[in-house]
Formats: sequence, structure tokens, C-alpha cells
Amino acid sequence: MAPFELTFLGTGTSLGVPMIGCACPVCQSSDPRDRRDRSSIFIRTPELCWVVDTGPDFRHQCLRNHISRVDAVLITHSHSDHIMGFDDLRPFTFGEEARIPVYASPATMAGLRHTFSFAFDEQNRYAGYLKPEPFEITGPFHLGRTLITPLPVQHGRVVTTGFRFDREGMPAVVYLPDCKSIPDTTRDLILDCGILIIDALRHRTHPTHLSVEEAIAVARDVRAGQTYFTHLCHDLGHAALEASLPPGIRVGYDGLVLSMD
Ligand SMILES: [Zn+2]
Ligand SMILES: [Zn+2]
Ligand SMILES: [Zn+2]
Repeated sequence: MAPFELTFLGTGTSLGVPMIGCACPVCQSSDPRDRRDRSSIFIRTPELCWVVDTGPDFRHQCLRNHISRVDAVLITHSHSDHIMGFDDLRPFTFGEEARIPVYASPATMAGLRHTFSFAFDEQNRYAGYLKPEPFEITGPFHLGRTLITPLPVQHGRVVTTGFRFDREGMPAVVYLPDCKSIPDTTRDLILDCGILIIDALRHRTHPTHLSVEEAIAVARDVRAGQTYFTHLCHDLGHAALEASLPPGIRVGYDGLVLSMD
């Protein structure tokens, strides 16, 4: 297998695409790439595999992508569209003592503990319960031979933690799903990255997400080798958007796999 394989589990905004009850052309599209679950990625390496975010579609995303093993979880922030499938990590921690490592910033971990108090509560450790093992992110850390660097970005008033993944001999992969602006300290950490996966909600500007035009400007500014857009809303049809983008920028879609050698 490839030393690093990244699967887009979901590439949609908080409502998903199609949106419930919407009759717009994108929500009615027959192109499977216009069906977008809530945003998440899955990473497989020879040593370990992990998921970034467990939104409301997490169970379905695991089944559809034949995911039978998850060794760790990284959470970008505690908005509902990124955490509401958290309890569906249970099948990956069956057994009295089995715990699953959860990596999140202190603020995001506080949000998780609040929403999923029954799972974090040491009093209720029944065999079938999810048993998270919290690791608060304070700097770069390793999962197997992959170095993971946290990338704080501004998402309205919330700080989201994006991630940079590095392995020996592999171009850096950067994931920034919910983002409106990038502080200089984070910009320095993603300059000249090989792959940039970044929020591009829609064409119109939005107070907490990058627009397509803003995301293109970021990709150019940081000189990303190849960029993929994610966290799209139903304003954007896959085929039309991709045809309009400059070279080096593509549109992610659910089920897309990037294999890095
Ligand atoms: Zn989101
Ligand atoms: Zn629609
Ligand atoms: Zn968000």
C-alpha cells in the first residue's frame, strides 16, 4: 500500500449537499460528485489510520468507504457538522479497556467533553461505551511515522485547528476545512506545501468561510503545489466549478482518494 493515502469522506458544508427540501440544480444534480457529506478526511498509513472530524455522516462514511479500523481521531473544532458522529467511533473501541486517542485543541476538547459528557465521564465505562483518551494539542505530534503540525486558523470568532502532515520523502499535505483567514504564523507553516485542501464555501463572501475567489488567492499566496477545495455548499456544481478554476486547483469530492508515494 501507499505510505500515505488520504480519502475525502465528506466535502460538503454543514447542511450537506443536497440540502433537505432544496430544488436547486445542484441539489437535483445526477452527478455523484454533487452529493457532499459533511466534511471529513480519512488517512491510512502502513502503521496507523486516523480520521479528521466525525460529523453527522460518519457512520455512513465508514460503511461506504469500507473503513474497519480507526486508531486515532483528530478534531478541527466542535461545530456540529464536525463532531456529531463522535459516538459512532464505538465499534473501533469495543472491549472493556479499549480507548481511542482523541486529539484536539484545549478549546475544542472542552466542547467535546461538554457535548459527549457521557463518553468522557470516567464513571460510566461500560464495555459498549465509547472510551475516548483525550490528548490536548499544544504543538506538533506524531502518529506512527507521520509528523502532524497543528495549524490554527480563524473561522469567524472560532479558531479551527487545521493540520499539516509530513512523512519522509513526501510532499507536505495540509488540511484546512473551516477557515476565513490565516494568521501569518500559520501561513509560514504551509508555504510551498505539496497539497492544500481548503475551505471554499461558495462564490459570495461569507463571514466565517473562504469564498472560491478567496481560497484561490490563498492557494496562490502560499504557492501550494496542488489545491483541492472542500466544505462546498449547494451554490457550487462540481463540473462547472472545476472547469472554471486555474491550473493546479481542483474540486474535492466524496470518495476521492489521494495516494502519496
Ligand atoms: Zn464545517
Ligand atoms: Zn440546493
Ligand atoms: Zn465550522
